[in-house]
Amino acid sequence: MGIFFISAINALKVMVAMTAIDVEDIEKRDNMTQKLTCIVCPRGCEIEVVLNEGTVESISGNSCKRGEEYARNEVTAPMRQVTTTVAIEGGIYNRLPVILSDVIPKERMMDVCKALADVRVSAPVKRGDIVLANVCNLGVDVISSRSM
Ligand code: SF4
Repeated sequence: MGIFFISAINALKVMVAMTAIDVEDIEKRDNMTQKLTCIVCPRGCEIEVVLNEGTVESISGNSCKRGEEYARNEVTAPMRQVTTTVAIEGGIYNRLPVILSDVIPKERMMDVCKALADVRVSAPVKRGDIVLANVCNLGVDVISSRSM
């Protein structure tokens, strides 16, 4: 009986502790501050974004409207450009630099890199040629960034 009582108290303590953590986590999530460095121009303003339940409540530290737009996108739906190389046969080098025709969601960058791992083109290639159309069904093309 005594052991059962101690175990029950311990279980209760664990439950109380877990509840405390959950409440803390929810409070953090409900009113979260995110700090980021704006990469739109070389000035590199330190921007602070306050989020409330996933919604942007305030943005400060930016020196211009472009920084505000960057910060808003960065905390809600970050986008990235991908620049890399693909294999080329018959060129002066064995790798051809490529770039996307537009930015893509940050979380899809690795998918694009994987899709390009097996791509092999043949020279000659002109700057701007499409190397891989609609990569990963993202609605953007992979294009050559130089002639070779
Ligand atoms: S907030 Fe404006 S001035 Fe500051 S780094 Fe971004 S783009 Fe440049």
